[in-house]
Amino acid sequence: MAEKLTDIFGIDVFDEATMMECLPKRTFEALKKTIKNGEDLDPQVAEIVANAMKDWAIDRGATHYTHWFQPMTGITAEKHDSFISPAPSGKILMEFSGKELIKGEPDASSFPSGGLRATFEARGYTAWDCTSPAFLKEDAAGVTLCIPTAFCAYTGEALDKKTPLLRSMEAISKHAVRICKLFGHSDVTSVSCSVGAEQEYFLVDRENYLKRDDLLFTGRTLFGAMPPKGQELDDHYFGSIRERIASFMKELNVELWKLGILAKTQHNEAAPAQHEIAPIYTTANIATDHNQLIMDIMKKVAIRHGLACLLHEKPFAGVNGSGKHDNWSIVTNTGKNLLEPGKTPHENVQFLLFLSAILKAVDLHADLLRLSASNPGNDHRLGANEAPPAIISVFLGEQLADVLTQLIETGAATSSKQGGRLRTGVHTLPELKKDATDRNRTSPFAFTGNKFEFRMVGSSMSIADANTTVNTIVADVLSDMADELEKADDFDLAVHDLIKKTVTKHQRIVFNGNGYSDAWVEEAERRGLPNLNSMVAAVPALVTEKAIKLFDKHHVLTTTELKSRVEVLYESYSKAINIEAKTMIEMANRMFIPAVIKFTTTLANSINAVKTAVPTADVSVQADLLTETSTLLAQAKAALNNLSKYTKTAASIEEGEEQANYFRNVVFPAMDELRTPIDLLETIVDKEVWPVPTYGDLLFEV
Ligand code: ADP
Ligand code: MG
Repeated sequence: MAEKLTDIFGIDVFDEATMMECLPKRTFEALKKTIKNGEDLDPQVAEIVANAMKDWAIDRGATHYTHWFQPMTGITAEKHDSFISPAPSGKILMEFSGKELIKGEPDASSFPSGGLRATFEARGYTAWDCTSPAFLKEDAAGVTLCIPTAFCAYTGEALDKKTPLLRSMEAISKHAVRICKLFGHSDVTSVSCSVGAEQEYFLVDRENYLKRDDLLFTGRTLFGAMPPKGQELDDHYFGSIRERIASFMKELNVELWKLGILAKTQHNEAAPAQHEIAPIYTTANIATDHNQLIMDIMKKVAIRHGLACLLHEKPFAGVNGSGKHDNWSIVTNTGKNLLEPGKTPHENVQFLLFLSAILKAVDLHADLLRLSASNPGNDHRLGANEAPPAIISVFLGEQLADVLTQLIETGAATSSKQGGRLRTGVHTLPELKKDATDRNRTSPFAFTGNKFEFRMVGSSMSIADANTTVNTIVADVLSDMADELEKADDFDLAVHDLIKKTVTKHQRIVFNGNGYSDAWVEEAERRGLPNLNSMVAAVPALVTEKAIKLFDKHHVLTTTELKSRVEVLYESYSKAINIEAKTMIEMANRMFIPAVIKFTTTLANSINAVKTAVPTADVSVQADLLTETSTLLAQAKAALNNLSKYTKTAASIEEGEEQANYFRNVVFPAMDELRTPIDLLETIVDKEVWPVPTYGDLLFEV
């Protein structure tokens, strides 16, 4: 790389440093007040910012601007407008007004709205989110100034994932501040959520990718027999990174750094061809935008390297799928991480209160957390012994679990277990200080030192829903706690009692053992923890009485918005399975069955030819193979007919819960029925006639 990293970092972002350079001091201060304290934005300030932003972007080659938003599809959307406007001289002016900066009007009827918008009521608005910096995006179309925005309907309802996230951040800030004040921290005026999302993905050869309709249309392989080698040798995880992948990562990092994304860690993951990237954490809202950009840019950079980047949660059956670990903590405007236990957590009462609040929130709203990590792809992972189970529990580790036990048993915690020293027995190695707690890779919601790691989110999903949910459920408990404590005569006594009462009541959510074991499933059932085994089973959680009350109280989502989201979820599930089923039908009909027929014909011809040449010759091998193949072919055809029939029936059901359940309970298993004989056929049919690249080709030819 020719450029120095410090020179390129953030050059495509209209960030604070750039604003300080380009804006008059008073405008800058006013804008910062809006960003930091949520104060209303003066239209005159917007006018000056728009002009400065435009000049900066044009200087860097931009011709267009776009309001960049995050509709309920879970990905991003943009509509480009150029800066040009006609000048009286016949030439053009480059213009961008404050109004254009703060408000856009995309047609809302073409985005999922769950019934909020009928086709004839098209109006929707995008509103500038000044808390996330504008940036430049370069592609074949040129350079575009992208303005992060929220997206809502003419009637005011949120049509996107950013609006509820921003609302939830306000909610948790409000109530966390109340708690901090009770502890005497009068300088705390706001609390923000820090999020770092680790992103897993696969890279496969693009030529191979393009030959597979299933990857192309659905993002995952719908057929494919296991190769002789999978991930059993554990030789890929943290293995040295191959040249082609390394050059992809190098270019990706540069692109991300230019956008001010703190790309930090990269390594090979557990499955062959699987990798991970993690940026350093930042504010939840920006982290969400950044994660969208990371996914977008990964796909683009992959193409430049002859690769395809697969973000699907389960691109290959039989090898690990991909997830996204959402690392979450809350930090005050004075810079204190409220989840930092310190060396002696048993003495850190404020930390213990926040911890108990989180335990209670997760216990009360496990169903909502489960839903926030649900999509059709993640149904293949959660509970399938590779990702966290579908049961929500919290891992605290030895030290905190012990503090909790002391609190529950004796009413007071008097000690914290310490980590001690790591002894390797080799004198030349440095003596290392051990953490007080080991890691647990099987927990869906794990405390990892000074943050929680929500490990269920799917790799292709926006992290907005997960963070909106965590923020809101924690805000709700903090709000109740603040209500109770603000009334107390003796704060110390009251807080002590509250912590003890809360952890005692919600201790069932804590689980420090192996989340992948069958014993845990039984234990969780005994504890009464929900085990929602699929996305469609999780969707109703959004509109329970408890959920409606929760989201309404904190102004995160109204009942109407919740109901519309439920519709969107069912619809998106049905659509995804429908596309998968139709792709399978097409591939079986037009690729696999013809290939197998060709193979059986060759076998039959061979038998006849051999018999003609030598009537006494033994053709039992060909004959057996022909029988086996023909039997599997007949099975495949029968399964195909069933799948076609069920898919048609599904299409005739009205969109919504019933249709989604039919897809889940009838169509989805029928897909497996078709896959089984075809995958068996793949293992016996001549590789030369097999019409698509195999798992071996895809996973090891990178
Ligand atoms: P691991 O998952 O192996 O523990 P790291 O500790 O490096 O990896 O962190 C993973 C992610 O968590 C990174 O994105 C990192 O920036 C983020 N992270 C670290 N500390 C915090 C924190 N206090 N709040 C939120 N995210 C954090
Ligand atoms: Mg992690």
